[in-house]
Amino acid sequence: MVRVYQAAGAALALLWATAAQADLLIKNVTLYDGTGAPAKAGAFVLVKGDKIAQVSSSAIAAKGAKVIDGTGKYLMPGIMESHIHLPGGQTGNVNNPTERKLIIDKPTGLKYLHGYLYVGVTAVYDSGNNNDYIFAMRADEQAGRIQSPRIFAGGGVITVPNGYAAGPAALKVQNWEQAKAELDHRFTYKPDMIKMTLDRQGVMFQPTVPALSQEMFAKVVKYISDNGYRTTVHITAEQDAETTINAGITALAHPVWRSIANDNFIKLAAEKKIPIATTLAYFGNIARVADDPSFFDEPLFKEVVDADELDRGKTVDRKRYIDTGMSPFMKMLAPHAMKNVKRLHDAGAVLTLGTDRTLPPMVHQELELLAQSGISAFDCIKIATLNGAIYVGHEKDFGSVEVGKWADLLLLNADPAADVKNFRTIAAVIKGGKQIDRSKLDLPVNRKKG
Ligand SMILES: [Zn+2]
Repeated sequence: MVRVYQAAGAALALLWATAAQADLLIKNVTLYDGTGAPAKAGAFVLVKGDKIAQVSSSAIAAKGAKVIDGTGKYLMPGIMESHIHLPGGQTGNVNNPTERKLIIDKPTGLKYLHGYLYVGVTAVYDSGNNNDYIFAMRADEQAGRIQSPRIFAGGGVITVPNGYAAGPAALKVQNWEQAKAELDHRFTYKPDMIKMTLDRQGVMFQPTVPALSQEMFAKVVKYISDNGYRTTVHITAEQDAETTINAGITALAHPVWRSIANDNFIKLAAEKKIPIATTLAYFGNIARVADDPSFFDEPLFKEVVDADELDRGKTVDRKRYIDTGMSPFMKMLAPHAMKNVKRLHDAGAVLTLGTDRTLPPMVHQELELLAQSGISAFDCIKIATLNGAIYVGHEKDFGSVEVGKWADLLLLNADPAADVKNFRTIAAVIKGGKQIDRSKLDLPVNRKKG
C-alpha cells in the first residue's frame, strides 16, 4: 500500500517537474497581501512560474493563463506554521526523552504534510527533530519528490545531558570541543535555524534539570551566528528569555508563559524585533482537553487526522494530561501566555503563528486563541504569514502577496479579517504557483470517498 503510493508520488513529481506550467490569473478578488496593508477589493494577481508576477487593482490581460475567478472571495498568502515537530523521525514517549528512539518513517511524516496543505499551510518550520529524517524530508520537498508545504528545519535541539528535551536527536553539550565538533557537523546539513533550549524546569512536574550555563549558551549562539545560521530557543521563564535575547538569539520558540511578563521584557522583545512563535495551542489545548475534548470532533480534525489518532487524543493522551497534572498546570498558566502574547503584540513585537502541536488543524485553533487573547483577525493575517517568513529569515522570498515572491496563496470563501474562523473556509491552496488538488491528498477525508 505504502510502496504503491510512493511510486505514484514519484511519477507525479516527475510530471510536475517536466510539464510547462501555464500562467495563473486570480481575478477580481479581495486581497489581503499579508504586509498589514488594508484589504484591496477587485484585485488581480498574475502568477508566472512559481512567482507572483503582477498585482493590480485593474484587469490584467493574461492570454493562455489559467483563470481563477475570485469574485466574492478573499486572497491572502499561504499560512506559515512556525513551530512543529514532524512525526516520523522518533518513536517513544514524547515526555520521556530517554525512551525516544531515532527512526526514519517518511510515509508517516507525509500524512501530516498533506494535512498541512489541506488546512492552508504552505510552509512549516520544524523546531527540533532527527537530523537524518527532517533534512531528508526537506530535500524531498525541495526536489519536488513529495507534495508538501515548504519545509524549514533545524535538526536536533541543543541542550545538555539529562537537560530539557535531551532525547537521542539532541546535541547534548558536554564541553566546548565536543559542542563545536557537533555544530560543525550540523552545519553540513545547512540548517535553516538551529533550536536551543534554556529551561531548568524539566517537563512539567518532573524535577529540575541541568541547563547550559549562560557563558556556554552565549558561546554556542555566537558560534552558530558567526557561521551564518539563525537560532531559536525554547524558554518558559522570563529571566531565561532575557538571557537568550541578550546572548544574541534570533527568535523565541515560545512566549514567556510561567508568569505574567515584566514590562521591561515586553519592551526588550519588541525593540529587538525578536520573532516569537505564539504556541498558545500548546498551552491552551492541554488545558482544554481535560474538560472539553470536543474539538477533536470538528470537521477539520476528522477530515485531516486519522480516526485512531483522534481517538488517542480523546482517551490515552487526555488521561495522561490529567494524571500527570499537566492539564490543571496549563489551565493555570495558559492565561499568562495569552496575556503576554497580547501585550507583546500591542508593544509592536513580531509574533508568528506556531502551535508546537503538530496536528494540522491546530493551526486554526491557534488563530482562535490569538483572537481570544484580544488580537484582531486582521492582525492575525500577518502573524500567520509574513511574520512566519521573518521567523526563518525568508521574508524576501515569501509571506506576502508581492511581486517577485513565491506564489504561495490561500483563497478563502469568507473574509478572514472579519473572523479567524473564516481562515477555515478554504476555496484553494496554491503553492509555488500550482493549485493543490486537495481531493487527491492522502487524508481520511479523501479515503472515505474511495
Ligand atoms: Zn517544540
